[in-house]
Amino acid sequence: MPLAPDRQLARLRARCAKHAAELAKVGFMLKGTVKQRMLPCGSPGCRCHGDPPQLHGPYWQWTSKVRGKTVSRMLREHQARRYQEWIANWKRFDKIAEAMHELSARADALLRSQEQATRTHEVRSRHRPQPRKSAARR
Ligand SMILES: [Zn+2]
Repeated sequence: MPLAPDRQLARLRARCAKHAAELAKVGFMLKGTVKQRMLPCGSPGCRCHGDPPQLHGPYWQWTSKVRGKTVSRMLREHQARRYQEWIANWKRFDKIAEAMHELSARADALLRSQEQATRTHEVRSRHRPQPRKSAARR
């Protein structure tokens, strides 16, 4: 048997609160990715420019998009570990926020259907501005 709307709403609210508590535990966050890369250097005669090229590395590199631009930075190993941890925090945050958004959408649907039910009891002759049909269709 399905739960009453109020119970459903209370359940959604409780789940949302649980997620919010999880969010509060997330620390520093960073967007982007950390990868190990092999790279050529700047000296023309180096083996990294040979055939086949023997690249240097591996190096840790962080890459991210900042205001639409790709930004990258070379990292030391301990920095790479820190970046990976902060990136994992961002992903956790993002996942939790997405779950909260989903619960909110369900709560909204519930509330709207409740509001729809009460509206049928209202007098419908009240004057209310109506959106122009031609404008609403576009
Ligand atoms: Zn080189």
